[in-house]
Amino acid sequence: MHINNLFKEKGLVFSFEIFPPKVTSPIETIYDTLEELRDLEPDYISVTYGAGGSSKGNKTSELSSLVKSKYGIEPLAHLTCINSNKDFMEMILQELKEKKVENILALRGDVLGKTKISGDFNNACKLIEYIKKNKGFGISAACYPEGHIESKNLQQDIEVLKMKVEAGAEHLISQLFFDNNCFYNFLDKVEQKGIKVPIQAGIMPVTNKRQIERIVSLCGSNVPLKFIKILEKYEYDKEALRDAGIAYAMDQIVDLISTGVRGIHLYTMNNPYIAKKINENIGSVINSINKKQAV
Ligand code: FAD
Repeated sequence: MHINNLFKEKGLVFSFEIFPPKVTSPIETIYDTLEELRDLEPDYISVTYGAGGSSKGNKTSELSSLVKSKYGIEPLAHLTCINSNKDFMEMILQELKEKKVENILALRGDVLGKTKISGDFNNACKLIEYIKKNKGFGISAACYPEGHIESKNLQQDIEVLKMKVEAGAEHLISQLFFDNNCFYNFLDKVEQKGIKVPIQAGIMPVTNKRQIERIVSLCGSNVPLKFIKILEKYEYDKEALRDAGIAYAMDQIVDLISTGVRGIHLYTMNNPYIAKKINENIGSVINSINKKQAV
């Protein structure tokens, strides 16, 4: 099923993101994680794509196929432009088709170190147009509630987002954020621009201070004072920081759901403990929205 159709059936779409095991590790190392995530009944699971540039070395399509065939969950395979040309893309799309993976999150990828962006695909929009021609895939794209780090400003970023939707993106997943007001402000601007596809809020429960410092340097997310206080207070108490990070994420999610967001995408970092805790505590909030929709 295409991901955008899930939004027609459900009041709230709830999904997880995982990353494939290292190239040197067997795929089986992720079975336990997937089993635990399956028990939480997500609407779909997305699988990240390393910018390795070789389909052999990249386990995204293999893992996406496994999510569907072994665990019965709809997969969303990430795919990036980095180090790619048309021949390479054609090969990957064919592989995904053969593996019955129907949904792709089309991304440019991060430009780091020796990464190359070819003339064929120098931004996500070009990749979306290309996949759209290769009929049959549901296409998703990334969006940035606080603007992409390379953009001049949020308005320019929303112009690009409009182009991605016009090129064929039918569903958007946001970059993680810690301040819900940034997300609400973004949704208002997106609506004014006439972008109507469903947007899922990307939430990452932060469980250690170094992790958040890395994230902020990579994507420039605003960290509210309330959250800074938590990070400073429990910096040296691993368990307390983990639990406070999960509680902060739950607070964000309850507020987002109560305000009417269409979906939550949880960056699980392959840690089912976090997803389980969230589900245990606010599963009823998530289910309540879908019960209302069914009446
Ligand atoms: P684009 O939409 O191409 O935008 C990149 C920049 O170029 C933006 O500043 C944009 O405003 C600008 N731009 C684009 N097109 C134009 C244009 N026509 N004119 C002017 N400016 C333009 N990375 C990975 O490597 N693997 C993953 O699996 C992965 N998963 C992700 C999942 C999500 C939900 C998100 C939010 C990000 C993910 N990323 C992943 C990171 C992503 O690749 C980076 O954020 C990257 O820097 C931008 O990707 P994009 O698809 O948004 O790029």
